[in-house]
Amino acid sequence: MNKLLIVGTVAFDAIETPFGKTDKILGGAATYIGLSASFFKVQSAIVSVVGEDFPQEYLDMLSAKGIDTSAIEVVKGGKTFFWSGRYHNDLNSRDTLDTQLNVLADFQPKVPANFTDADVVMLGNLHPIVQTSVLDQLTAAPKLVVLDTMNFWMDCALPELLDVIKRVDVITINDEEARQLSGEYSLVKAAAKIHTLGPKYVVIKKGEHGALLFHDKKVFFAPALPLEEVFDPTGAGDTFAGGFSGYIAQSENISFKNLKNAIIYGSNLASFCVEKFGTERMEDLQRDEVLERLQEFKALTQFDIALEE
Ligand code: AMP
Repeated sequence: MNKLLIVGTVAFDAIETPFGKTDKILGGAATYIGLSASFFKVQSAIVSVVGEDFPQEYLDMLSAKGIDTSAIEVVKGGKTFFWSGRYHNDLNSRDTLDTQLNVLADFQPKVPANFTDADVVMLGNLHPIVQTSVLDQLTAAPKLVVLDTMNFWMDCALPELLDVIKRVDVITINDEEARQLSGEYSLVKAAAKIHTLGPKYVVIKKGEHGALLFHDKKVFFAPALPLEEVFDPTGAGDTFAGGFSGYIAQSENISFKNLKNAIIYGSNLASFCVEKFGTERMEDLQRDEVLERLQEFKALTQFDIALEE
């Protein structure tokens, strides 16, 4: 089985949406990526850090999904990374209320020996120095390196972020972040500028308005499935990244054509994530539900039109 190496936060989140509010619940970029990638036939491991306050049952849940958690370091006496956010009424935008790095501040990642030759590396959202350190520990060039990041790191660690962006094949960011990173309002111009920073493929996520994949002069669009119930968008971007990287790791094919399928898989899995608070929906999601919704995706986007010569 192909190997998928995941790095990112494993966290406590406190979330407010127009539909309710949670106290500290399980969150973190790597958590969502791992859960999403667990729907593919891949061997995956998470490199991350938590504090002593992190419940063992959360780690057990991830292990039960087949994810190797042995490289999630538990810092004695330390506190787990904490993020809190409040969504606006449109659920497409949010304010970060608090970010406490805690144990993440001094984190030095250690890639397990059996994952230094991973086929696909998914650099989830966290400090770009940690993302770089993971790349430095690899002993063989992966088939694909994917990076996800957010405005927080653009604001506080831009030079380090630009250094790691240079080294990746694919970057996935949302529309606002693409505009911030490139200084361009047009997403076409933004993607072209981000290409020049290193990544051959640029994926721009637009929340409920889908995702765009840019490569050379080519562009592909995947819609988001119109859903009856959207409860909490937290983790949708990471779930997308997990679906994208998990599918590529399983299929071993990095053609543009297959990357299109990867963003459909990412969008499909993300559509489940938003249906309940936190990780709840991803934890109980079944494989047949994923396949059924894939059919809906196909029906949503397929049309036959005769083009006049
Ligand atoms: P998303 O909704 O996909 O952007 O991801 C939300 C998840 O990202 C939450 O579970 C948070 O724990 C995590 N998160 C929030 N801020 C950061 C940050 N600055 N670095 C890493 N992870 C973060």
